[in-house]
Amino acid sequence: MLRPTRLALLSFLVVVSAVVFGTALASAQSPSQTAAPAKAEASAPAAPAGAAATQPFDVNAAVEAYLAKMPPARRARSNAYFEGGYWLQLWDFLATVFVMWLLLRFRWSAGMRNLAERITRFRLLQTALYWIQFIVVMSVLTFPLTMYEGYFREHKYDLLNQNFAAWMGDQLKGLGIGVVLGAILIVPLFGLVRRLGKSWWVWGAVLTIVFTAFVSLIAPVYISPLFNKYKKLEEARIKDPILSMARANGIPATDVYEFDASEQSNRVSANVSGLASTLRISLNDNLLKRCTLPEIETTMGHEMGHYVLNHEYKGLVMIGVIIVIAFAFLDWGINFSLARWGEAWDVREMTDVAVLPLAMIVFSLFFFVMTPVTNSITRTMEFEADMYGLNAARQPDGEANVDMLLGEYRKLDPGPVEEFIFFDHPSGRTRITAAMRWKAEHLDTASEEEIARPLFDAK
Ligand SMILES: [Zn+2]
Repeated sequence: MLRPTRLALLSFLVVVSAVVFGTALASAQSPSQTAAPAKAEASAPAAPAGAAATQPFDVNAAVEAYLAKMPPARRARSNAYFEGGYWLQLWDFLATVFVMWLLLRFRWSAGMRNLAERITRFRLLQTALYWIQFIVVMSVLTFPLTMYEGYFREHKYDLLNQNFAAWMGDQLKGLGIGVVLGAILIVPLFGLVRRLGKSWWVWGAVLTIVFTAFVSLIAPVYISPLFNKYKKLEEARIKDPILSMARANGIPATDVYEFDASEQSNRVSANVSGLASTLRISLNDNLLKRCTLPEIETTMGHEMGHYVLNHEYKGLVMIGVIIVIAFAFLDWGINFSLARWGEAWDVREMTDVAVLPLAMIVFSLFFFVMTPVTNSITRTMEFEADMYGLNAARQPDGEANVDMLLGEYRKLDPGPVEEFIFFDHPSGRTRITAAMRWKAEHLDTASEEEIARPLFDAK
């Protein structure tokens, strides 16, 4: 979900739902900080314009012309930002493991459990009290990394509009949500462990999948509005064509919203979120302000693809399979570790809530290793949505421009293995190649204005 606002909790909850949030909320984001349709001298590609009419359209040349719209210095900065993200995934993982190990090694986890047991004799409440201590301590200990990653680094790359107070406010909201949602998952999960014994992990996985669906269901109504203001799509310039396209694709007009993402950044983005009655398409104000109508249309066509192709549900099923495997691994990993170090950590057994840091380590390890798999699940669906969007909006040049804007924070031209491992969306080159391939078969849809439109200033 390069995600609307990154919740600062590296919690069990987030590990579980991040994957799904990635699918659900992060659908088509793109940045590009300095708005203004930049100065003309900046980029203007050698447009394969008039040539198209007489000669066969050269897909590769058209792709290269679009990629050349981003000046080399900008490209280098985008690559540095994105490649730095590869390392951050490793540091996030190691930081989580280290903090969880501290909680176990110095028996802080056992201490938090003992405190909860002194306060109340009701086990469900003990679990909830432990959870609150756990998530607060974890958030505090990982805060330096969170701050570097979410605040300083984003500012360094001009990708964040917020001052520290506003950013911190969002972090605290995220923590509050983590406390509540985490308790909703963790309390019944430990109830299951205590009641079911050995087979707990099967039902634990089922419960987690149901919980994930529940979070998706409530997110657009109760979570996203805590960070941004949402309203029905209003701006007349784009409202009519977008709603027309929505109707043509069987999507009720009541399901298209806009929100004020410029509170946080200048990134252009849109997404599909929700489930069943809360399922909706949202586009942000940066998209409305910074993009041309063909670019907005192709982005909305992409989002409508997610909607019509039922990606929310398919994603849930595919992530569900991974969650079941994760819980099997979790069961094995916890038993393996407790047999060796349980006594030293003063963690009694699987049913002891103080086992949570260990569960976090095992879970984080699993999802870290599975990164290429989860990325490939979302990347594949994103590519499907691209195909749908091209056919629905018929704006291949608008699509290529949006793909270039996304390139300000996502490396445009990675190697194939790199794309397979690290990309949760297709790279710019992949997407633009698809758009130009589509255009080659629909040359009447070519747009000279889009081809000539400069996207970046020279800096
Ligand atoms: Zn998408």
